[in-house]
Amino acid sequence: MKVLITGGAGFIGSNLVAHITNLDEGHEVVVLDDFSTGRESNLDGLPVELIVGSVADEQVVRQAVQGVDAIVHLGALGSVPRSVKDPVASHVANLNGTLNILEAAREVAAYVVFASSSSVYGANTKLPKSEFDWTRPMSPYAVTKLGAEAYVLAYQYAYGLATLAFRFFNVYGPKQPADHDYAAVIPRFLSGALHDQPLTVHGDGQQSRDFTYVETVCSTLFAAIQRRVVSTDPVNLAFGTSTRLVDLVALIEEKLGHSVTRDHVEPRVGDVRASQSDGVRIRQLFPEVEPVALQDGLTATIAWFQGLEKVGRQR
Ligand code: NAD
Repeated sequence: MKVLITGGAGFIGSNLVAHITNLDEGHEVVVLDDFSTGRESNLDGLPVELIVGSVADEQVVRQAVQGVDAIVHLGALGSVPRSVKDPVASHVANLNGTLNILEAAREVAAYVVFASSSSVYGANTKLPKSEFDWTRPMSPYAVTKLGAEAYVLAYQYAYGLATLAFRFFNVYGPKQPADHDYAAVIPRFLSGALHDQPLTVHGDGQQSRDFTYVETVCSTLFAAIQRRVVSTDPVNLAFGTSTRLVDLVALIEEKLGHSVTRDHVEPRVGDVRASQSDGVRIRQLFPEVEPVALQDGLTATIAWFQGLEKVGRQR
């Protein structure tokens, strides 16, 4: 199978490249990435064909899909606060980029899996979330994801294209960067805790998330492309867990064997209070996927961060 992974130099993308190539089943992997947030070093030692360019560039996308059986479309500008600061950039990369991917996929009849986001539920406070609950984006980022997943699903009806739209919840794991303004909460907290710095908590820390380990996401994405799983409705890629940020901090303290201080600041615009999937459809569609528990995923992620520290000190 030849697979195009857009955003393959990013956190989830590079883990997926490693997951597929480590299977040693002869799959070919092409990565299309513009390095806006991803890093070439994430692909070090991985046997991929790398195309440097943007999904917003129609010509580049057409070139990238040649001979491809499946596309995992992860290439996008992530982060709610980034989109609040620059909504147009998010729109261009995430919405125009997805339309280009779909148009190119149509030409070569490639299967498309798309990474939407739990942020599409936004102002809907019902918990846990089913895919049939109403959506109300609270940020430009969430709007781009809702619009893009609507395109992905509409292409099934309009053109008979085989597609699947996953709504990722908070994904974490090795290779997730902590060193930029829009870093996600787990890498931010781990990096801070390992450097004995106070952890910045937006709001009271009672907000909760359905954290999903990156390897669970990769197993699910690979199962989807292998079986060409199609659904006319989006699928929450999370398994129904709920962890408050204060409990996450306690878990980090337990794992590191020392306490950390918390610095509470104003809540962030566009952030949702609680996010949890009901985990029903994912289990129906992917019974073979066994989710990695937060305890285990966090241990592996800490080990990766500690490895980075060691390399940093040796330099
Ligand atoms: P990431 O920022 O590490 O990866 C995104 C990748 O896309 C990067 O390598 C970046 O350089 C690339 N990219 C950005 N704009 C591009 C463009 N115009 N053309 C080509 N490449 C482009 O983020 P991630 O956490 O790995 O997220 C992957 C996908 O999953 C994204 O679509 C994101 O919106 C979605 N998602 C992630 C989470 C999460 O918790 N990490 C949650 C919900 C949805």
